[in-house]
Amino acid sequence: MMELTEEIRAVIDKTTAAMKLGEGEYIAPADGLVHCRKCGAPRQTVIRSPFGGYIAPRCVCPCQQEKERRRREAEERRQRMERIRRRKAQGLQDRYLYGYTFAHDNGEKPVMAKAHAYVNHWPQAFKKNIGLLLFGDVGTGKSFLAGCIANALLERDVPVLMTNFPTILARLCGTFGEDRTAFLNSLGDYDLLIIDDLGAERNTEYALEQMFSIIDSRYRCKKPLIVTTNLKLDELKHPPDLAHARIYDRILERCAPILFAGKNFREDNAASTKAAARRIVSPDNQKN
Ligand SMILES: [Zn+2]
Repeated sequence: MMELTEEIRAVIDKTTAAMKLGEGEYIAPADGLVHCRKCGAPRQTVIRSPFGGYIAPRCVCPCQQEKERRRREAEERRQRMERIRRRKAQGLQDRYLYGYTFAHDNGEKPVMAKAHAYVNHWPQAFKKNIGLLLFGDVGTGKSFLAGCIANALLERDVPVLMTNFPTILARLCGTFGEDRTAFLNSLGDYDLLIIDDLGAERNTEYALEQMFSIIDSRYRCKKPLIVTTNLKLDELKHPPDLAHARIYDRILERCAPILFAGKNFREDNAASTKAAARRIVSPDNQKN
């Protein structure tokens, strides 16, 4: 604040006389400026006018700055939550995938540590374009693990799409020209693409051609891909023909293979469902 000369004081008094004071404001007798009752700091200042002389415009006090900062933070938080919600709706196309979260993990599968590690090292995985190939027997929790990664990254505001080839092929069917290119390009917008259950689709020449173009465009845009499959690593390494070979080669080049072995968790779930069902319908349970 510049020295309070008689000239400046006159400018201040003239300005404040025409000013409407807000609630929680007062004019301090010492300098004649509008002040904040809460923090005591001025809400008015004096500067040189570019046209000569002085002017005494409004300024913000620390509590107004703090209030504005909090308002902006709350707005950013709200927008982020909205973005995450929208991304989830877009990225998890099947409703059941919402339940594939670390919170729903029973902690019995040691392989889940790899999912936590992947999420924790996501910035590096993204930068270095490192994906995962989850392979092994049916019902060993590959989709669950991939879904947990999807949900955890979506919560961190990362654009993820978890889908499968039958869904993509159905979408592509009858789509040509610019629409087709636009759809394929839209897959490149996701930082992580998860293709669930590779190998379950019908292997027509058309399907294989589309699959290759998707895997290849992912490869070329240098963004990570996670694939789950019931195929054996040996089947992936020794494909039946060239059409499969060029798809699998691309996947094996960028995706770290993780073997799922042992217990079939779906059978486990089925067993516990049966056990629960038995308890519910058993006569002993009726008194509860
Ligand atoms: Zn204040």
